[in-house]
Amino acid sequence: MNERDSEIMSQALAGSGYVETMEMESADLVILNTCSIRAKAEQKVMSLLGLLRKQKKRHPEMQVCVAGCVAQQEGEKLVERMEHVDLVVGTQNIYQIDHLLEHARKNPGYIAISMEKDYTIPVFLPDQAMGAAYTGKGDSPSIFRKFVTIMQGCNNFCAYCVVPHTRGREVSRNVKDIKGEIRVLLESGIKEITLLGQNVNSYGQTNIVTSDGAPFSFAELLHEIAHLEGLQRLRFTTSNPKDLSDDLMKCFRDIPNLCPQFHLPVQAGSDKVLKRMNRKYSIARYLELVEQLREYCPDIALSTDIIVGFPGETDKDFEETMGVLERVRYHGSFSFKYSDRPGTAAEKFNDKVDENVKKERLMRFQDRQDEISLDRNREYVGTIREVLVESASGKALKGRTVTNHIVHVDDTLGRILRPGDLVDAEIYHAGQHSLKGKLARMK
Ligand code: SAH
Ligand code: SF4
Repeated sequence: MNERDSEIMSQALAGSGYVETMEMESADLVILNTCSIRAKAEQKVMSLLGLLRKQKKRHPEMQVCVAGCVAQQEGEKLVERMEHVDLVVGTQNIYQIDHLLEHARKNPGYIAISMEKDYTIPVFLPDQAMGAAYTGKGDSPSIFRKFVTIMQGCNNFCAYCVVPHTRGREVSRNVKDIKGEIRVLLESGIKEITLLGQNVNSYGQTNIVTSDGAPFSFAELLHEIAHLEGLQRLRFTTSNPKDLSDDLMKCFRDIPNLCPQFHLPVQAGSDKVLKRMNRKYSIARYLELVEQLREYCPDIALSTDIIVGFPGETDKDFEETMGVLERVRYHGSFSFKYSDRPGTAAEKFNDKVDENVKKERLMRFQDRQDEISLDRNREYVGTIREVLVESASGKALKGRTVTNHIVHVDDTLGRILRPGDLVDAEIYHAGQHSLKGKLARMK
């Protein structure tokens, strides 16, 4: 979501003549597009801002802008603490970044934060700046893979989560706008689209929006998009299991270009903890969903998010989380130590778990996940997998399978391959985080 927001700001600025640089020291404008989902992400922003204060002393013309969730959350407090910040831009205001920067030039410390209930995501079509966005990661996937936002905000108020506070209420985007944006991307050569929302499963349940005003489910949206010409791979993220419908699960069986990969955050393995988290599903229900998904799509690669050390989590509760890991045997997972977020329900819970206990639980979970990921990856050895090439330098190619596994491919056939090409690779080695393969054929 933040990556897409960075891209939108980059596009808006390119239209006003800004040119991107990877060197912060010489930049005339630095935008920190921030995430406040966990305390650690927020701390990083603050230390980077400290660095920028020194830099601005040497280069006073430089504009410093803070955008995204920390901006939304901290607002005026940010400018009070960090007097060198020229502009604070909220999550719904990024589309006007170019005008806001102009304004901030005359009014340093300007704050543009709105939180409209009936906010509509503007149509922001890709232009000549496409592919220019620096997303903070090494290989920019922009030239063949794109994210498309289908909804903003969230209504779920999970007890630990800051998203409903920083991104506001859930709004689903108009089907016509979504399809229009994807069509333009496909016409420009994009092959893979990832639909983005905090809980895509509830797409269309609130504030919806088709061109004729009729309700539209996420499963229906997937069917609509999947047959757009030129779309080779379709993915989506992320989903709260409480809203996972049978129709949506069937999409993995029925839509050929929907990638067999599903990120289904479970968060915790104990019903008691899930209840306190306000997740609204039980572990039995979650496991039923997993079983059903595997029945519809036996090849599906499942991943999850886990929080360890949620307030009140006992050793026994944590063992139940380990139990879910053993039962599901996820291909991969993102796991985090619980951290207090401002304004959330859990922040006020008084049975916080000791930091060292959280650390130990996290290590145990991650070590076991690594072993399982390796075992899962080994299942691919000896098989032929389709790989969408992401980067190619000489004979070393890197790309991803439909299951989102990274594959390093040896170009034994000596073809000249470019990012965006589709190839078949014979997998001969499995590591914990990636696979190795030999180029078998071009597609
Ligand atoms: N909408 C998604 C989650 C998006 S936030 C869902 O409902 O599953 C991404 C992940 O950050 C969450 O799944 C959760 O595991 C983690 N997270 C969110 N708030 C957190 C907190 N306060 N402490 C630790 N991890 C947190
Ligand atoms: Fe946060 Fe996801 Fe829960 Fe929404 S559904 S409150 S984004 S964890």
